[in-house]
Amino acid sequence: MKLESKIKQTIQKYKLCNKREKVIVAVSGGKDSTVTAYLLKKFGYNVEAFHIDLKIGKYSEKCLGAVKELCSDLDIKLHIYDMKKEMGSGMCYLRTAIQAKSGKTKLKNCAICGVIKKWILNKTARKLKASKLATGHNLDDEAQTFLMNIFKGSPQLSANTGPISRNISDKKFIPRIKPLFYVAENDVREYSKKKKLPVVYEKCPCAIDSYRIQVRKFLNTLPTKEKQNIMKNFDKISGKIQKVKNTRIEYCEVCGEPARKNICKKCELVGV
Ligand code: SF4
Ligand SMILES: [Zn+2]
Repeated sequence: MKLESKIKQTIQKYKLCNKREKVIVAVSGGKDSTVTAYLLKKFGYNVEAFHIDLKIGKYSEKCLGAVKELCSDLDIKLHIYDMKKEMGSGMCYLRTAIQAKSGKTKLKNCAICGVIKKWILNKTARKLKASKLATGHNLDDEAQTFLMNIFKGSPQLSANTGPISRNISDKKFIPRIKPLFYVAENDVREYSKKKKLPVVYEKCPCAIDSYRIQVRKFLNTLPTKEKQNIMKNFDKISGKIQKVKNTRIEYCEVCGEPARKNICKKCELVGV
């Protein structure tokens, strides 16, 4: 099935969004989120874009340039979060400080960055009165996450995974949608090149040591069909996982954002 029809089908089958609600697309400058924004706009959804300027040197400058070009070409309203201005330092500095504090149990770059980005995304999407928050996660990302959770013996961590976040219903949590959930990374790359979209193809210089990278290397040895099978199996068992999942939402005592415990992951890390 062609990429566009596959994404349309995912949006319709899983009721990801409708044309009356506001969808904020988290655009990084990479191919996946760029294709997500491009197609949601092309399909006629009410789309605005949100970019977190992580201040990772030249790489972030290129990403910012790419999202500005995309949004200006497509006439999409772009919101930018400047990490230095909003949090007092860029991602590199913040991450190094957190890692220094964590001592021997050195937290990985992407683990820290991921927690902080998620916190910013939910808070900002809510501030912008979005009904949905769209991200560019593709089939490869999802297969990696699913396998990582299995390898770590915690399949229940996949309970809320799917093209739309499940089992979380809270006024402060903006549901996340992943229109590219069933589309292989290679197909997204090919499509973005065919459409000549402004994309930064180089890797983030901080993506160096994650467990995800090891799993990705392994998955890249498999054909797309087998990656699709991983997610088909996920679909089959996800209903069972959800039954054992406790998805009670609390509010962080420090920042007031939705959290699983009394302090959210971001505040635990940043230690404010
Ligand atoms: S690759 Fe890792 S460090 Fe770089 S932006 Fe993504 S999560 Fe952050
Ligand atoms: Zn918090």
